[in-house]
Amino acid sequence: MTIDYLERATELLAKMPGVGRKSAQRMAFRIIALPSEYALELAEAIRALKEELKVCEQCFNFSASTLCGICSDAKRDPRLICVVEDASSIKNIERSGRFRGLYHVLQGVLSPMHGVGPDDLRCRELLLRVASAPIDEVIFALNPTLEGEATSAYLGELLKGSSCTLSRIATGIPVGGSLDYCDEITMASAIDHRRNF
Ligand SMILES: [Zn+2]
Repeated sequence: MTIDYLERATELLAKMPGVGRKSAQRMAFRIIALPSEYALELAEAIRALKEELKVCEQCFNFSASTLCGICSDAKRDPRLICVVEDASSIKNIERSGRFRGLYHVLQGVLSPMHGVGPDDLRCRELLLRVASAPIDEVIFALNPTLEGEATSAYLGELLKGSSCTLSRIATGIPVGGSLDYCDEITMASAIDHRRNF
């Protein structure tokens, strides 16, 4: 039986978000046209994402080592923690250049509808971080969805007794939207105008 290599690659590429069948096929043709080194490097980069990438044991950002680049950067302020839904938000907040503290990736939001409770997220680890080190401020920067809001409120309630300031980034980011589509100017202003809980 012959394998339809083009069809196989197209099908796999079409699983990517925002990539339809037509674009997937164009990508496959493009890969054929490019030098072999490119295709091998792409294959290796994808392999490394699955096999080499771990999560930082402090903030749960993706990392190739035990501590991520941000947590191990001595110039960052360890007394500020910005809580995000997933690691992609970190990239956007970093691009804004407005935040010099550390992060905490929850790895999702509370969603009773989908059976996601506090134990499925890195909630306990956040409480532990706040309890075990001097923290001045915890900034919530979850996506402005109902679930994101409910998660911020839940964690805010649990952290109320601690001595740190609790704040959330300002809106300006459309409700129901995702931080992934937020430009750096909106993000910078959202961090600058964060408000207390
Ligand atoms: Zn980290």
